[in-house]
This record gives sequence, C-alpha cells and structure tokens, in this order.
Amino acid sequence: MDTQMLIGSKFEAGTEIEEKILNPKTGELILDLAEASLGQIDAAVDAADKAFQSWSTTTPGQRSAYLLAIADAVEKDALGFATLEALNCGKPINAVLNDEIPAIVDCYRFFAGAIRTLQAPAAGEYLPGFTSMIRRDPIGIVGSIAPWNYPLMMMAWKLAPAIAAGNTVVFKPSEQTPLTALKMAKLMADILPEGVVNVVLGRGESVGNAIINHPKVSMVSITGDIATGKKVLAAAAKTVKRTHLELGGKAPVIIYDDADIDAVVSAIRTFGYYNAGQDCTAACRIYAADKVYEKFVADLASAVSTLKYNQADDTENEIGPLISKRQRDRVESFVARASEHKHMEVVTGGKLGSDKGFFYAPTVIAGALQDDEIVRREVFGPVVSVTRFSDVDQAVTWANDSDYGLASSVWTKDISRAMQTAAKLRYGCTWINTHFMLCNEMPHGGLKQSGYGKDMSVYALEDYTAVRHVMIAH
Ligand code: NAD
Repeated sequence: MDTQMLIGSKFEAGTEIEEKILNPKTGELILDLAEASLGQIDAAVDAADKAFQSWSTTTPGQRSAYLLAIADAVEKDALGFATLEALNCGKPINAVLNDEIPAIVDCYRFFAGAIRTLQAPAAGEYLPGFTSMIRRDPIGIVGSIAPWNYPLMMMAWKLAPAIAAGNTVVFKPSEQTPLTALKMAKLMADILPEGVVNVVLGRGESVGNAIINHPKVSMVSITGDIATGKKVLAAAAKTVKRTHLELGGKAPVIIYDDADIDAVVSAIRTFGYYNAGQDCTAACRIYAADKVYEKFVADLASAVSTLKYNQADDTENEIGPLISKRQRDRVESFVARASEHKHMEVVTGGKLGSDKGFFYAPTVIAGALQDDEIVRREVFGPVVSVTRFSDVDQAVTWANDSDYGLASSVWTKDISRAMQTAAKLRYGCTWINTHFMLCNEMPHGGLKQSGYGKDMSVYALEDYTAVRHVMIAH
C-alpha cells in the first residue's frame, strides 16, 4: 500500500499528528497516517510553482498525451484502485469497479480531448488599427480539496481539468479517505513531470486551512460542506483567490400524478441510496402528488426494504456503510428527531444496520412536511423523506424552497409539464424521468448555497482558465 505524500518528485511521510484510517465495514484500523507539516505544505506549493513555469507552456496536445497515459494506467490497474477504494470507503467493490472506475478513466480521457478543442471568439479589429484576440490561459497553482464520498472520482474531477488547462496542483484528499489518492500520487509521479501534481495529507482545519490561505495558491477548488465553503471564501478574500465550490445538496424529486410509479420506485431505490446516500445529488427529498402518494410510499418502502448491505459475499451488496461512526450517529440522530413528530412515520429502516462497522438501514420517512428538519437539511445518508402535495405550483415552490441548488428531478408522462417545471427549478441540474445520471460531457455544479463552478464538461475548462485580451497595434 502506498503511504507517502508526493511533494515535487519526493515521496515523504507527514511529520505531524496521525489520523486513524478505519475500515467502515468493521470499524477496524487500516493504518495511521501522519499529516503534513507547514514546511511540507510550503514545499508542495513551491514544487507546483516551479513546475508551473514549464507545464503552463506545454501545448494542449502534449498535456493531452499525459492525461491519456494517466487514464490508461488507471484502467490497467482498475482492480487495484477499486479494491483500495472499497476498503477505505466500505463501498461494494462492484460499484467501484463497474460504475466509478470507468467514469474516472473517461474523465481523464474527456479532458485530454477537450483541451485540444478550446474555442474563442474570432480575432478582429474592434478599434481601427488594432487587432484583438482572446487567450485562455492557466491560472497558476490550484489548491484542490476533496471530500470522502467519492475520493478517486473527486480527485479526477479536480485534477483532470486543472492540469489539462496548464495549471499545477496541490491536492489534499479527505483525512478519512486518503488511500487511493496516495496510489494515484505514485501513478502520477511515474507519468507527469515533477511538481505538476502534489499530494499532501491532513485535516481540513490544519492542512486544508494552510492551503486555502497560502499566498502562492491562485485558486481553490473544494468539494465539501457549506460551512467549509464559507471558510474558503473568507480565506480567499485575503489574497483574492479564485474559488470553485461544490457544497452539497438536498435534491427534490417531484412525482406528478401521471408518473410511471414503478419506474420512480425503482429509480429512488437505486438513486436515493447509492453510496449509502452519501451523495450530494441523492434523490432524498420527494414530493409525491396526492393521487399517487399512498401507492408510492407503500411500494417504495417495500422496494427499499430489499436493498442488500452487509452481506458476507460482497458481490451481493448494493450499498455499503456510512464512512464513520460520527456520520452514522449523525444519520441516526436525524431519524430519531423525525420520529418524535407524530405526523411522520418511518415506514422502513430507522435502525442501525449492523453490530460492527458503520451501517445504517435504508430508511423511508413518510408524511414529512416542508418545514421539517428532514426535508430541509442534508442528511448525507440512506434516508429519503416523502411529502404529499395536492397543488402543482406548491410542489415547485417547495422544491425551490431550499438553501441548496445542486440537483433535482421531475417525473411525469406529460413532456410539456416536465419542461415547464424544469424551467422553474433553481437547480444546477434537472433530470426528467430519471435521476443521478452524469456524464463527462455535461456540467455538474450548483446554484444557491450548493456553490458555483462546474465539474466535468468544457465549462470546467473555462473555470480553470483565465480569459485574457491581447491587442496588437498595426
Ligand atoms: P467537509 O467540508 O467536512 O470536508 C471536505 C474537505 O474539506 C475535506 O478534505 C476536509 O479536510 C476539507 N476541509 C474541512 N475544513 C476545512 C477548512 N477549514 N479549510 C480547508 N479545508 C477544509 O465535507 P465532507 O464531510 O468531507 O464531505 C461531505 C460534504 O461534501 C457534504 O456536505 C456533501 O454534500 C459535500 N459534497 C458535495 C459535492 C458536490 O458536488 N456539490 C460532492 C460531494 C460531496
């Protein structure tokens, strides 16, 4: 197992306090990893700074070749990466191997191609005697900070567009899930020039804080909690850094009375609970029309009660545990508080999912009202609430009545009603008769307190480049 950070071309262990890396399926210790010192963070930033001088002048074609080599190497060692990710996160290995790794490989391949196609407006004479042109240039050193829910995928979403665009990176994985980032560090050191990607370990309040406050870091890209995003903004204000914030979600799902209920139930069973609901787009906040409400709740409860987890044969598992005891306790406390209200009913789940490890049983809470905590706050666990509506406008108003604005979905056979609803929803993404589907060609990112900046797609390349004007006097 790779256990050392990557600073320039050197592999080093951290020298500060140790973080316990646990197996979420059992709660057992995998290993202790020490976090980076301030000196090591400075060294990583200096290495990125030095590398920027040459990396930023490489051609898109050259950078594309590096990204394709990274994609090939990840694909070749797919089982190694998937095994490690499954160990550190508790995910079913098939989910990592069959869903996540192909999407990660495709992310590097997508940006390898996209960087060679960047377009700009035509150069022209906008003042007589002068020709103007637009350049899209790299920004500098990007401080990239990732969460624990999809460690390897978040690393790909952050690194691929940043380095494709000619930036260099100091990357910090979540202190809870650093293992695949360390394996990627080894792979990248074998492929990329020294200092283009640096990986440092540590907690947010120490190492993360040092990165976001570092004067030489020009841009901070973070996926995490709203509270963390606000800290990044406060730090960025000091040296006027660019920021790219992906800050969670509470996705509304509107089910109209003409929806195909079997299709919705099947989709929510999968996409409300994928990754144990630790997903910022999870289909967790359902608004069901009066006419279909009773059937939907009964069918969903019965479908969700069949979700497989904590089976000895991992190939049978559909979902894993929560990442930590703390996260499981948090989920449990949300359900406990909801249960105190008479108008809500836990129709399935509502209990711990195992004696050891951090499992929580997939849960459906029916009868939730718009002002209930379970409807308003992100649980980030396998818990879905269902709220009844009788008025279509009310459903859209409730769906929009949220601090979050990342993802949403609408279910109806009436395409004009679907399009009218999609136009009114204040979310970075609206799916119609589906949920959760992402592809590297399309942008992912939020509105409102879900943050701003896009992952994936050519829009990410826009975020990781600066538009510049060059004018030539004739
Ligand atoms: P978190 O905010 O606690 O941590 C995210 C990362 O930020 C970690 O690497 C952490 O060490 C770092 N961090 C924490 N405090 C910091 C600070 N003061 N300065 C610098 N870095 C700091 O979030 P988490 O618990 O790891 O992840 C779950 C959250 O991430 C959820 O809210 C979830 O919705 C969100 N998320 C959002 C998206 C999205 O695309 N919008 C995707 C995945 C996860």
